[in-house]
Amino acid sequence: MLPLVIDTHCHFDPEDHAAELLQEAQEARVGVLAVGGNETNNRTAALSGAPFACGYDWSCVGIDPRLEQYSGMIAVGELGIDFHRGYSEEIETDQRKRFLAQADYARAVQLPIIVHTREADQTTEAVLREANLPKTGVIHSFTGDVAFARRLLDLGYYISFSGIVTFRNADLLRETAKFVPMDRILVETDAPYLAPVPLRGRRNRPAYVRETAKFVAALRGMTLEAFAEVTRANTKALFGSVPAWEC
Ligand SMILES: [Zn+2]
Repeated sequence: MLPLVIDTHCHFDPEDHAAELLQEAQEARVGVLAVGGNETNNRTAALSGAPFACGYDWSCVGIDPRLEQYSGMIAVGELGIDFHRGYSEEIETDQRKRFLAQADYARAVQLPIIVHTREADQTTEAVLREANLPKTGVIHSFTGDVAFARRLLDLGYYISFSGIVTFRNADLLRETAKFVPMDRILVETDAPYLAPVPLRGRRNRPAYVRETAKFVAALRGMTLEAFAEVTRANTKALFGSVPAWEC
């Protein structure tokens, strides 16, 4: 039987048929963590039937007032810092405030966080230090170098790799994927974006995480079986034991 691989980060748009994508994932032996980040995605994640995370990302203000209704949440996210569309001190101050509000919420509900960071290494590291959460979390769809990864690992965070690690121009990221210790590594799709090679360009879906897992396993000189086992154990250690993942 194929080893069970966990897609620790995907989004369902309202027009996605989450039930079909989850059925397809199950047939491909892929477990799924559905992730929100705004009111629409929180809702589709919470109603998908998969284990899910909800939160408010860097572009939203406040706390989703409906979170209380979604029982069974296993993480807060995604939240994060993103200067891709521009940087100013004001933008940074705003995003830090939002991040810390989400971190406070995570502390209150005692759940790990799912962190997005883009072109914001220093600020992300600074807010993670400031938040100083007792339960850490994962830096998702990681694109940083070994030095940044090392600082985040030192803070207790896990590192998750998406299809970007399979892209032709991602040599530096592949160095990071080889560097992250066995007990801190995860994989994901970040669907519907970032489909891995050789499926690049298609609309991404949870089942495609197998390509990324295969790729990272080979990169690290491991069998897919061994790598899948490691990432399943890490998923459980970080997010807790979830029945859907026990198969
Ligand atoms: Zn995401």
